[in-house]
Amino acid sequence: MLRLAIQKSGRLSEDSLQLIRECGISFLSSSYKLKTEATNFPLEILFLRDDDIPGYVQDGVADLGIVGQNVLEEADGAHLQVEALGFSKCRLSLAVPRGDAYDSVISLQGKSIATSYPHLLGRYLAAHGVQAQLHTISGSVEIAPSIGLAEAICDIVSSGSTLLGNGLREVETVFRSEAVLIAQPNLSAEQKDLLDQLQFRMQAVRRAKR
Ligand code: ATP
Ligand code: ZN
Repeated sequence: MLRLAIQKSGRLSEDSLQLIRECGISFLSSSYKLKTEATNFPLEILFLRDDDIPGYVQDGVADLGIVGQNVLEEADGAHLQVEALGFSKCRLSLAVPRGDAYDSVISLQGKSIATSYPHLLGRYLAAHGVQAQLHTISGSVEIAPSIGLAEAICDIVSSGSTLLGNGLREVETVFRSEAVLIAQPNLSAEQKDLLDQLQFRMQAVRRAKR
């Protein structure tokens, strides 16, 4: 038996469930439940907040998980990745108010930056020799400059329309992300075998879409 953790409700949920179905795995889905069992594969599906998924998989509470690389990398869990899944593509970007002067990342020296990704951003800034004051906030990062909380932001972007709507200009890409399958490090031999079967099906699903 394998326990797979997916996002309960959010941008990853629909595509995660869809992928499992396309792998030929059937289950009863109910949006209220915390877990469900597949009827034709030894798989249990847990519904969790995406931020909790890397930790549960690291600790072996769940055997597998589907999560964005942004969340995985922020949680220091990159070693858990077993397969890139090709959906929920987005990027973690730096943005500044549209009218502000900006030449390069050096322009952020000494500035305050709001983000939900202090680890990824801190690493990026350090690599570029920039020191800034990071304000970690969990949501609505894009409004931080307009309310005077920070001079720049670092947030997840896909189309850029949210930034535009908040008078912000995207200036640097800090990290590129997509959804990935992760696995706990200590799977049993039987579980590894089931994971192989699952990955084989996932790869076939992706090939069929190309
Ligand atoms: P939760 O309540 O589970 O904590 P959340 O609000 O943190 O959810 P979502 O906004 O649902 O998270 O995003 C989940 C993941 O989907 C992100 O971590 C990222 O990998 C991806 N994602 C976020 N925004 C986009 C986007 N605009 N386009 C594509 N993928 C995105
Ligand atoms: Zn989250």
